[in-house]
Amino acid sequence: MVERVRFLVVGGGSTGTAIAYYLSNEVGRDVVLLEANRIGSGQTGYSTAIIRLHYSTPEVARMALTSYRVFERFEELVGGSCGFRRVGFVLAVPERLRAGLERNVSMLRSLGVETWTISPDEVKDLIPQADVDGIAAAAYEPGSGFAEPTETALSFAKAAAGNGARIVEGVRVTKVVVEGNEASRVVTERGEYAPETLVLATGVWTQRIASTFGRDVPMKVLREEIGVFARPEDFRGEHPVFADLGLDFYMRPHGDAETYVGSIEPPPTAIASPDEGGRPVSRETFLSYHERISRRFPAFERSPHLVRGWTGLYDVTPDWHPVICRDPEVRNLIWAFGLSGHGFKLAPAIGMAVRDLALGRRPEFFDPDHFSIDRFSRGRPITTTYGTGVVS
Ligand SMILES: Cc1cc2nc3c(=O)[nH]c(=O)nc-3n(C[C@H](O)[C@H](O)[C@H](O)COP(=O)(O)OP(=O)(O)OC[C@H]3O[C@@H](n4cnc5c(N)ncnc54)[C@H](O)[C@@H]3O)c2cc1C
Repeated sequence: MVERVRFLVVGGGSTGTAIAYYLSNEVGRDVVLLEANRIGSGQTGYSTAIIRLHYSTPEVARMALTSYRVFERFEELVGGSCGFRRVGFVLAVPERLRAGLERNVSMLRSLGVETWTISPDEVKDLIPQADVDGIAAAAYEPGSGFAEPTETALSFAKAAAGNGARIVEGVRVTKVVVEGNEASRVVTERGEYAPETLVLATGVWTQRIASTFGRDVPMKVLREEIGVFARPEDFRGEHPVFADLGLDFYMRPHGDAETYVGSIEPPPTAIASPDEGGRPVSRETFLSYHERISRRFPAFERSPHLVRGWTGLYDVTPDWHPVICRDPEVRNLIWAFGLSGHGFKLAPAIGMAVRDLALGRRPEFFDPDHFSIDRFSRGRPITTTYGTGVVS
């Protein structure tokens, strides 16, 4: 039997659950979300979930700011918890990136973001354990921090269900049938759906699903490893989130005594299968992260211990920016993928934008063409201050 559905969302990560929530705020029970495993079990579950506002383009900065305002008052606005912790965010750059950083900060301030440029000495005031050698300047955001990614997706899903949406876990889409210019049927392991509008929020698995209807998406899957390091006794308590474009690493606290460490730009050769997430961290990565964090925070030299770690995957587009658009060929298909390793913090705004696209409205934050799937083939990628990488 084929079930007719008005809005069918595939994927129950932070992206798909936020979309289901914002859509169901308006159309309630007309939303069905299908998730192959469990809510938040995809890359959302491996995320370090940093929430910051520093971006190079007003479009993404506006999305980050709108999302931030949701994370700040999540319980009141959405319901449930997102685990947001406001520890502050410092982005440190070498001399060659100073002018770009200052330009970004003034663009962000013009949008109402609470951020300013600080000197290396001020970095040291914020994190006394830092050796600021090689830092020319930094951007500081006192209100930023990190959240709990799986909890956030679960809360969005619960709130969507509270609006009447149906959240179906453990059901994998095996095929999308496109007839003419329409996605007419979505085949799953347990039955078929005929959606009026189909939203694909399937992250690193998007090429797999797109192949079932003969499409190639502009995205590759890159491996990003996260190491969890123990901090020595004189470096305890929650430190600000710290990103270092000179030494290419970022770190965020996990409780009082541990720090998550990742790279800002994973090696472009680290191409992975979408099913590889969760593997342990390699010894080379551990050594390389330890060397970099010890240069910036020498206290780590006395703590060469990797407590644990995991491999996450990024769905990376050629310009490290998402695809959020109606498909130019299939009239009832909307894409939301290619979050490129920085999409957790944007989930609320993506949810709102896809709601608008699905309801035939113009998204609030960007021109409908801005995140189009064909911007690469048209030679119009998004350009940013720092080039590629998660901080762009
Ligand atoms: C290691 C790591 C660190 C990160 N750090 C940050 C950070 O600090 N800040 C930040 O903002 N972002 C960060 N990100 C990125 C962010 O976590 C992701 O962009 C975001 O969570 C992606 O969510 P998603 O819903 O698009 O994808 P996923 O969470 O992967 O969700 C996709 C879902 O689709 C489901 N699915 C796939 N195929 C099918 C199918 N055929 N049928 C049914 N269901 C299907 C999957 O099971 C999965 O649950 C990080 C990512 C990683 C991996």
